[in-house]
Amino acid sequence: MSQRILDLKVNLNYTVPVIFVIEAVEEHWQKIYELSNDIISSLLGRVNELYFLGNSRSYPIVLPQDFIEQSPAWFNENKNRVSLLNPVFEEIEKKKFKGMIVVFCSKEPCDLEDWLESEILERTLFVMLSDEDFPLKYNLNYVEGIKGATYILSKIENPPEQAWIEAKGFVPLCYEIKQGGKAEIKFQDGKFLFSIIPEGERLEIHLKVISDDFPVLYLKRRKGQIESNEIKEELPWFKDPTWEEIPEDLKPIVEAGITKSSYKCNQCGEEHSYRVLICPEGGIVLRGIPMNSCVLFTKEKYFSLSEWYALPLRHNQRVITRDGNLYEWRNGNWIYLRKVDIYEKVDDEVWALFHRI
Ligand SMILES: [Zn+2]
Repeated sequence: MSQRILDLKVNLNYTVPVIFVIEAVEEHWQKIYELSNDIISSLLGRVNELYFLGNSRSYPIVLPQDFIEQSPAWFNENKNRVSLLNPVFEEIEKKKFKGMIVVFCSKEPCDLEDWLESEILERTLFVMLSDEDFPLKYNLNYVEGIKGATYILSKIENPPEQAWIEAKGFVPLCYEIKQGGKAEIKFQDGKFLFSIIPEGERLEIHLKVISDDFPVLYLKRRKGQIESNEIKEELPWFKDPTWEEIPEDLKPIVEAGITKSSYKCNQCGEEHSYRVLICPEGGIVLRGIPMNSCVLFTKEKYFSLSEWYALPLRHNQRVITRDGNLYEWRNGNWIYLRKVDIYEKVDDEVWALFHRI
């Protein structure tokens, strides 16, 4: 097992695809046709397939026009089939379809009981078309067709509530969320958790990470099980860290930090301990070096973690975050060591400084 650095890209649609399932009953067909038509054009591109109860055959809908023109013939092919869910749900499960299913029916499908404890039923909405009272023995998601397409649409939506990235040994080093929400990084139980509160329709992120396993993106929606989504590797999106030259007049100050001695202040002319970062008579002594995030120094150069969340040290067996926290990889977990001390040595010829001003 070795900690490696990966460049990753996340691309995910928050909107869910929808499958229609229709009970082919003559007296309700006109109503189903009108409702379906309205819903398909509102969910543009999201209803790609249609089934009939009792038939495992899938009828593809590429454009809304396909439904408008071809569904009457499809309906005739399936007229008066026994209203069974089994052939359709088995097919949908085989395809590992994770979206929503809308069943238009006049009565409860006769084999509904077979699916009562299934996860697929949590993502199924029954649109009831008959005026009769149904023997609704079960706690199902259902809506009366008479309430209209807009109301049905509000029941189809299954908004995302939380997304997160996880893997063994995972540490986000830097990231950019192009769209889809804001990220929060937490450390708990030996793990870094990168979570996103979803916003908008799509999620797009570029990341540089350390990881042992290949990371996975998880998504929790209001209904249904947690979905796992594949993340792809990409060419490096972020430049390698650029170390800047320490300005000549600051070199003696940094050197005092490294050797834990004192320096002659270039503002008041007095000697200060290396621990003094703000001159009592002036201002910040390391003027020009960004100070609100952790800064790493060699004897000649510095690197500020302002744009990075964390930087790997000691062959990726250690990381330091922009808040100056040090973590070490031990026995398959990240262990929090401590907040770095002023000019603490963190790697060969590398010292760290974290000071909020
Ligand atoms: Zn001074």
